[in-house]
Amino acid sequence: MKNKPVHIIGGGLAGCEAAWQLVKADIPVIIHEMRPSKNTDAHKTDCLAELVCSNSLRSDDAEYNAVGLMHEELRKCDSLILVSADKHRVPAGGALAVDREGFALEIQERLKNHPLVTISREEITKLPPEDQTTIIATGPLTSEPLANAIKDFTGEDSLSFFDAIAPIVYKDSIDFSKAWYQSRYDKGDSTDYINCPMNKEQYYAFIEALIEGEKIEFHEWEKKTQYFEGCLPIEVMAERGKDTLAFGPMKPVGLTNQHEPTIKPFAIIQLRQDNALDTLRNIVGFQTKLKHGEQKRIFRTIPGLEKAEFAKLGGIHRNSFINSPVLLDEHLRLKARPSITFAGQITGCEGYVESTAAGFLAGKFVAAQLSDKSISPPPNTTAMGAMLNHIISGIDEKSFQPMNINFGLFPPPPPLPKREDGKKQRKLKGRDRKKAYTERAVIDFNEWLGIQKC
Ligand SMILES: Cc1cc2nc3c(=O)[nH]c(=O)nc-3n(C[C@H](O)[C@H](O)[C@H](O)COP(=O)(O)OP(=O)(O)OC[C@H]3O[C@@H](n4cnc5c(N)ncnc54)[C@H](O)[C@@H]3O)c2cc1C
Repeated sequence: MKNKPVHIIGGGLAGCEAAWQLVKADIPVIIHEMRPSKNTDAHKTDCLAELVCSNSLRSDDAEYNAVGLMHEELRKCDSLILVSADKHRVPAGGALAVDREGFALEIQERLKNHPLVTISREEITKLPPEDQTTIIATGPLTSEPLANAIKDFTGEDSLSFFDAIAPIVYKDSIDFSKAWYQSRYDKGDSTDYINCPMNKEQYYAFIEALIEGEKIEFHEWEKKTQYFEGCLPIEVMAERGKDTLAFGPMKPVGLTNQHEPTIKPFAIIQLRQDNALDTLRNIVGFQTKLKHGEQKRIFRTIPGLEKAEFAKLGGIHRNSFINSPVLLDEHLRLKARPSITFAGQITGCEGYVESTAAGFLAGKFVAAQLSDKSISPPPNTTAMGAMLNHIISGIDEKSFQPMNINFGLFPPPPPLPKREDGKKQRKLKGRDRKKAYTERAVIDFNEWLGIQKC
């Protein structure tokens, strides 16, 4: 054992996974966890790796589901979180659900009993000294003093306390017989925005649906930090006046409906590119607290989105996350201070499994760095690589928002070879398309694993 210990701040899913990957490489770690001396508003126990809400790690289907694929990739890498989840699995159909107490205790005991692990129960309130290798994995509920210290060091706009997520649609589910590409006043590239028109009746029916739709309430503790004027939920804007949206994010100015150039739409919904591959489009200004079922029902009344498939539905939650595309390098290190690596949900991924994956990658990257070995990030055709790519190069660094893993983050599968008669094959759809993503991912992930020397 020749290395100084790596300090890991936060003993959640990401911190525990990062610690495991480091001790596997013979590198000692000190996990600093503030509970129980200081609690978050969502955790209920003092156990490491507590699941704060659902006991499900979502779909375990590695053939047709992106999160199931991520499970498989983590299993291949001896992930402490996935191995413990498998051991404490409870029946849940196709999902990987766990006995939450057994799961968290298993992880805590394995780390506690490891000779290279020290667990220190304390809140860290400042950034570490420059010469200390540190992983920050304090999650969506990072304590305020540390959050402020990160903000002071990285800049005012670099850390958010709330996410404000507009629904994200798979571009190939938009009906272009009604929608069209155009930027307002033809500024920028004409493909920057996709537009969907509404006439007066459609618009007022839409406003009514927004006002009447069922909403998710904020938790009591979330109300302490209310949302800001700049990212008001769409239904709150609708409640302020029935024309507010028509003068706000749905204003029809500077655009001409290319399908009916002589008819001026009363309102227009715009969809902006959400990933570099341009497979996903977010509905501009549509952050919302509407329930998920209501979002699908109401947003599918928008002309052109009747058959929209959603990669992510909108939401607003208390969620500390940094502006990773600006702040981090491809190994999740803070560019301004590379001795600090970020892991877990604070990087801008979302969900138990994604946070675990970001913890795994942080642990692997730091282990390689301390052992003078090189490690390349996994290719973006794999679940972990696609997630990492979202974190470090989100399309729009000004409006970077957290994301679950989904196939929209992967490059589209290659076109099928031409048929024997020389004609093009039809594009893969539905389950066949999902299978094409996962088959390619398995090959690429195995190859990546084989090449890494650490
Ligand atoms: C209310 C709520 C409900 C959620 N429900 C779900 C769900 O159902 N399914 C899902 O997939 N995801 C859910 N999430 C997201 C989920 O929390 C994260 O995806 C996951 O737990 C993040 O893992 P993490 O390791 O990054 O952070 P966490 O698991 O939150 O771990 C961070 C740890 O850091 C500690 N900490 C914070 N600040 C400090 C400090 N300054 N010093 C020392 N320790 C500190 C905390 O006590 C905590 O133990 C939910 C999040 C919230 C807030």
